[in-house]
Amino acid sequence: MGSRLDPRALTRELLAFNTINPPGMERACARLLGARLEEAGFRVAYHEFAEGRTSLIAQIGGDPAKPPICFTGHIDTVPLGAAHWIHDAFAGETDGDRMYGRGSTDMKSGIAAFVAAAIELAPHLARTPGLVLVITAGEEIGCEGARFLADRRLLDRAGAIVIAEPTANYPYVGHKGLAWFEIETTGVTAHGSMPEVGDNAILKMARVIGDLEGFRFPIETHAVMGKPTLNVGTIQGGLNTNSVPDEARITVDTRTVPGIDHAHLCASLEKLLAPRGARVRKIVDTAALYTEPSNEWVQQVFEECTPFLDGRPTPKTITFSTDGADLKRGFGGPPAVVLGPGEPRLAHQTDEWCSINRVEQSVDLFRTLMQRWCRA
Ligand SMILES: [Zn+2]
Repeated sequence: MGSRLDPRALTRELLAFNTINPPGMERACARLLGARLEEAGFRVAYHEFAEGRTSLIAQIGGDPAKPPICFTGHIDTVPLGAAHWIHDAFAGETDGDRMYGRGSTDMKSGIAAFVAAAIELAPHLARTPGLVLVITAGEEIGCEGARFLADRRLLDRAGAIVIAEPTANYPYVGHKGLAWFEIETTGVTAHGSMPEVGDNAILKMARVIGDLEGFRFPIETHAVMGKPTLNVGTIQGGLNTNSVPDEARITVDTRTVPGIDHAHLCASLEKLLAPRGARVRKIVDTAALYTEPSNEWVQQVFEECTPFLDGRPTPKTITFSTDGADLKRGFGGPPAVVLGPGEPRLAHQTDEWCSINRVEQSVDLFRTLMQRWCRA
């Protein structure tokens, strides 16, 4: 085995970098990880989608006959929130099995776990399929780092992807897609005492909302994910009570299942709402991620996770979305699972923590998955 890197110490080091997004500023954190990986023999490349917004790709080994296995995670975190933290958000304070800090669960401990496992195995990976570690910036707002890597064709080959987001070491086979829309109606303003002279944008929007209630997705249900959903999340319109409003706006959150194309979905909404004169604009777009549970490698992952869980996992998907869909696209569609040591219920919470024990389990699990892929 190579040198052992204590995943607990590495998690604490990563927590010390303030990578709250916005603004992110992941460069220093990415450079630390890159330096550690370079020392261990990895080939490291940095890619910035904007000034200081650094992602890195680290590779080791390589075999023309079989692509490497990819482990991925994001180094940015969400803000601390308005509530007061009892624990320091950047010091990696521990209390028993818990390590506190913003990003401890989501997902610096996940990165520490796969980096520790990768460095330990590094000396044994020459002339094997090897590893590609993709550590991204800017995940928390629109997966900007991963999207940049995929769009610029900076991702080469990977035969499988492990997304080390917080799942308490339960392997999930994907997540729904997410498409948000802004819908606008316009009219003609007039004095509130003479509504017949105006054209009321809010009344038009009320009809739009009625139409949306009856909207049917092209795929009604998915075997593992269930139904796609649509929620009207915000509404705005009108400036004062005694005028006919000439503008109204809503935002709509749809969660989609594989097979629903978001451009197509946008076109369907436009078509449905065209008779109301509504304008539809897509404002957020993350594709669904899904791998058939019957996939041979997914079955291997289920098998390796079983000792760490109450029993053999059953196929499930998670509620949050990840960089996975962009990375999968960039790598040409290999199987992917979401699997990491963080506690899903603590992501984005005040006094976020991770279980140190689970992080150590995760190192064992990731090392096994790497060895099995590389036969190292
Ligand atoms: Zn995350």
